[in-house]
Amino acid sequence: MIDYIVVGFGLAGLSVVEQLERHTKSVHVFENYSQKSSRVAGGLYNPVILKRFTAAWDAREQLQKAIPFYRNIERKLQEKFIYDLAILRRFNSVEEQNLWFEACDKPILRQFLSATLYQNHNTALDIPFAYGKVKYTGRIAIQEMLGCYLNYLDQKGCLSQEVFEYDRIEVQNDCIRYKGLQAKNIIFTEGFGIKRNPFFNYLPVVGNKGEYIIIKCEQLQLNEAVKSSIFIIPLGEHLYKVGATYNHQDKSSKTTTSARIEIVKKLRTFLNVDFEIVAQVAGIRPTVKDRRPLAGTHPHYRNLHVLNGLGSRGILIGPATAENLYHHIEHGATLPKEIAIKRYETNSNKF
Ligand SMILES: Cc1cc2nc3c(=O)[nH]c(=O)nc-3n(C[C@H](O)[C@H](O)[C@H](O)COP(=O)(O)OP(=O)(O)OC[C@H]3O[C@@H](n4cnc5c(N)ncnc54)[C@H](O)[C@@H]3O)c2cc1C
Repeated sequence: MIDYIVVGFGLAGLSVVEQLERHTKSVHVFENYSQKSSRVAGGLYNPVILKRFTAAWDAREQLQKAIPFYRNIERKLQEKFIYDLAILRRFNSVEEQNLWFEACDKPILRQFLSATLYQNHNTALDIPFAYGKVKYTGRIAIQEMLGCYLNYLDQKGCLSQEVFEYDRIEVQNDCIRYKGLQAKNIIFTEGFGIKRNPFFNYLPVVGNKGEYIIIKCEQLQLNEAVKSSIFIIPLGEHLYKVGATYNHQDKSSKTTTSARIEIVKKLRTFLNVDFEIVAQVAGIRPTVKDRRPLAGTHPHYRNLHVLNGLGSRGILIGPATAENLYHHIEHGATLPKEIAIKRYETNSNKF
């Protein structure tokens, strides 16, 4: 009998598995690479919503949990994944500069926003109204981290790289049986793949497709992430991730010409030099109607649990939410009401 089966290994699965490992729980992970959100993500952590200059929900607490959490993974896997990276917000007008300075005076935002105007000295970029700079930002090399963690699980014999078949679960009072495995609990972390999960597909994961292009541009020489209508995120070796798009209609993970055209058009409004597109990626963000994560235990089956709804901010939200879920399962702690799936209980089904 093992302690946990975890279905899905994106940011939600990683946050859950690392939390379980910290508490020396035994785990077996299923991953079939059907969803791509975490593997294509920009990997930025940023406590501020740069469209409106507001603080992201619970950002301070999440930052305090997330960075030590990823450092721990770095130590465990003996690899570097966390990169300090400044985020510069390009202003479109003097009015926007003024809104930024107003935001700098607000108590929650003061800690995250620099009240200095940053002038641009990079001739490849057109930045007529300067930048504002966000503090406590960076990038997690998420694709590399997931890959290394999966290798680690594989070496321990705790990974099945295959589809999890929901109709093969036997739910018993004190355990779950699945093929040859017997576990005390199962946690589902399938991102947008939750739509196929008969136990939890009542939860309102809407899904929002995002695409990036990756460009090569030797003349750009940029060491910070720049946010205008889209992000430019430096990856090293003259490569940059540029995007992303938001599309709530198309629910496939295929890249599209329309997204490429949209990103290039926006990029050309402030990048003056030529570039080469070397790749394009797409994934579905597991977004929820009320923009809050989903954590908790199935209303009718006490061994089935879920962590989902990380939306467009999985890097920061994942670790804190996984910790809450762990204490809920193991110690009966009440989940914060914003994240508890109890808020959607009336939609649930028993079969
Ligand atoms: C273009 C884009 C850019 C983004 N940029 C950022 C960013 O800069 N910063 C940030 O914080 N967030 C960003 N996000 C959001 C972030 O990626 C998500 O919050 C996060 O990836 C969600 O993680 P998840 O584990 O819930 O889902 P996923 O990453 O989709 O992982 C779910 C996993 O479950 C597996 N799975 C599903 N069903 C099954 C099954 N039946 N059997 C086995 N395995 C299964 C899938 O293969 C997948 O690996 C971005 C997202 C996109 C799309």
